[in-house]
Amino acid sequence: MAVNTTPSGRTLPPGELDRQQQFAQACQGLLKERFGGEHTLLALVHSYGCQQNTSDGERLMGMLAEMGFGFTETPADADLILYNTCAVRENAEVKVFGNVGELSHLKKRRPELLIGLCGCMMQQPHIAEKIRKSYPQVDFVFGTHSLHQFPEILAGCLEKGRRVFRVEESDGVIAEGLPVRRTPGVKASLPIMYGCNNFCTYCVVPLVRGRERSRQPEAVLQEAREIAAAGFREITLLGQNVNSYGNDLGAEASFPRLLREVAEIPGDFWVRFMSSHPKDCTKELIDVIADTPKVCKHIYLPVQSGSNRVLRLMNRHYTVEWYKELVAYARERIPGVMFTTDLIVGFPGETEEDFLDTLKLVKEVKFASLFTFLYSKRVGTRAAEMDDPVPKEEKSRWFSMLLDAQREIGAAHYREYVGKTFKVLADGRSPLGLTGRTEFNAVVDFPGEESLIGRFLEVEVVRAEKHDLTGEIRRVL
Ligand code: SAM
Ligand code: SF4
Repeated sequence: MAVNTTPSGRTLPPGELDRQQQFAQACQGLLKERFGGEHTLLALVHSYGCQQNTSDGERLMGMLAEMGFGFTETPADADLILYNTCAVRENAEVKVFGNVGELSHLKKRRPELLIGLCGCMMQQPHIAEKIRKSYPQVDFVFGTHSLHQFPEILAGCLEKGRRVFRVEESDGVIAEGLPVRRTPGVKASLPIMYGCNNFCTYCVVPLVRGRERSRQPEAVLQEAREIAAAGFREITLLGQNVNSYGNDLGAEASFPRLLREVAEIPGDFWVRFMSSHPKDCTKELIDVIADTPKVCKHIYLPVQSGSNRVLRLMNRHYTVEWYKELVAYARERIPGVMFTTDLIVGFPGETEEDFLDTLKLVKEVKFASLFTFLYSKRVGTRAAEMDDPVPKEEKSRWFSMLLDAQREIGAAHYREYVGKTFKVLADGRSPLGLTGRTEFNAVVDFPGEESLIGRFLEVEVVRAEKHDLTGEIRRVL
């Protein structure tokens, strides 16, 4: 699929990457001046929040590696600490403020230490201002739209010895060609698009990540080939709403098509994707999942609420009936398919009756797992203006009821797995030996040699406890 109708202005201006590479080179010299020529530079990059942010973090690490940095996870060993922040809920922001606060001791002890903040939280002017005023230990700040300008920002900070704040308003660009330092292992993530057009009323993402923009299919496929050639065994395609991939590229591009084409790349790997907005999830997509062996049989389909009234207030553009129809179609087409969802509890104006509808939906659909969030008020969103009369204690009670229901549903799924054999990708160590995931996304621990990490295995589930599945290897594939 060769599509090339990206609206101009969405890609970087010609020569911009070269310009940034020159800044990266300049940083090498400036860093030597700051830390001494013999010093081995170490950076700590921590990404908060979603996989999209982790993926941005891998690009930031790629740029740092170009400037001569190695990496550490110990703050006291680092010469540069970069927190790539998340703004989706207040508690993510509170955590960042706490962690940055703690760095003031390190900065006092080693004034040459460089501290930077970037990502979604920093794209909000009121937050950047708070950092400027109250966190003098921070040397530089930049928002999501300036990610590709990191070398320029760091060079400015090193050269002038001044704090740099770059929080530009923009609909966002697509920066192809940035270096990537993937975390070594079995799984890799691959962004296929950036931003979001949906403006769910509770959500800050469209405000901090700009409008939806899709990467060219060939750019995605080329990166997928590189990931497969590097030996990764699982590729997760990322977007805030992967189902609207290609809407800005013309009629030829679509997510089902891209998914199929990624899976057609030669190599022994699985493909997953997230997130999938129910309003744009099509039967065509479900058919591709059903008919493409490399695509995992697990659909992450955030529903947010089981009440049509609340879904309307959230601006989600689907109904509970539509959602259940999608689930039913997928279950008919894909034997054993499992669903995971996101739910928000305590949206402004949600009543007990609305909540009970959500509980009912959870019991009906029987999700494999839930990501449940207490509603968090976000500056600049429409929901922040809505009346929110339900007390926090009541919302917490609803939250616990959901967790209790899901605990039972999860345990019942697990009991059904006992005695069955699944294809599993071994992806790490566990107290039993190894751990891995089935294509239906269930985690199973089993005895096995470390050399099997990264291999596909047939594992029979022999025991199920509340939160754990135990298996035994039957065959190495
Ligand atoms: N784009 C994805 C989608 O629409 O499914 C979700 C992206 S968002 C980063 C991840 C989840 O955070 C959402 O599905 C939602 O459940 C939750 N979330 C977003 N804003 C929230 C808020 N203000 N309060 C609580 N949870 C929120
Ligand atoms: Fe936020 Fe809705 Fe966009 Fe997801 S689809 S990122 S919840 S606005």
